Amino acid sequence: MNFIDSHCHLDSPKFHADLEQTVERAFSAGAVALINIGVDLATSKSSVGLASRYRLIYASIGVHPHDAKTLSNDVIEKMRRLGREQKVVAVGEIGLDYYRNLSNQAIQRQAFIEQLNLAKELNKPIIVHCREAYSDVLDILDEQYLPHVSGKPPGVIHSFSVGVRYAQEFLKRGFYLGINGMVTYPNNTQLVEAVKIIPMDKILIETDAPLLAPLIHRGKRNEPLYVLEVAQQIAKIKNLSVEEVCQTSTNNTRQLFNLQ
Ligand SMILES: [Zn+2]
Repeated sequence: MNFIDSHCHLDSPKFHADLEQTVERAFSAGAVALINIGVDLATSKSSVGLASRYRLIYASIGVHPHDAKTLSNDVIEKMRRLGREQKVVAVGEIGLDYYRNLSNQAIQRQAFIEQLNLAKELNKPIIVHCREAYSDVLDILDEQYLPHVSGKPPGVIHSFSVGVRYAQEFLKRGFYLGINGMVTYPNNTQLVEAVKIIPMDKILIETDAPLLAPLIHRGKRNEPLYVLEVAQQIAKIKNLSVEEVCQTSTNNTRQLFNLQ
């Protein structure tokens, strides 16, 4: 069964001891690609490094809203150069996080806008992190980004975990929604309701590894192989086979990130 983990952080220190084996477990189970995501300049570089070492790993580059305060002009310039590397498929994760507020909100908005401009310039889709900042994210996307990308899928809302209303807002704008292990947690009714109405051809499956392990591994390190648990849960909710969920989300991921 073919599948793709569309969002993982294999450069995390949590994988230093057994990266090789972790990647091998995913590939021998049928992974046909893994997208490794940058959250600042250093991890964007490591992401590109992983992509050059492994044929089936692709990279995204970006500065996470938590680290927005590190996005100087110099960093943007370095990101721009990294963004032209061959296996960079997206700009992200970028966005707004008003839950943890690790960078000041105005600085987060500024960094988000600057990286939307970078995505436009590089002609790459975006990977959006949004927590408790939905109306600002939608406003910024509407004003600064969507008018410039008409005709192709704009990106993915990663770690989507809120309800039907925001699912519809993003779908209306052409976004894919990234569903991860949170869909396996009990009491996540609003996410389950959202998954019911999101068309299968708009879903990407992801782990966000090493974070957010699915229920049966909860509290432990997550890894790309466990994206199959996410597929299984979506299959159950949508009354589809797990093969169908894996196949369609693989096609979706290939299409969004323009993978061969
Ligand atoms: Zn992430």
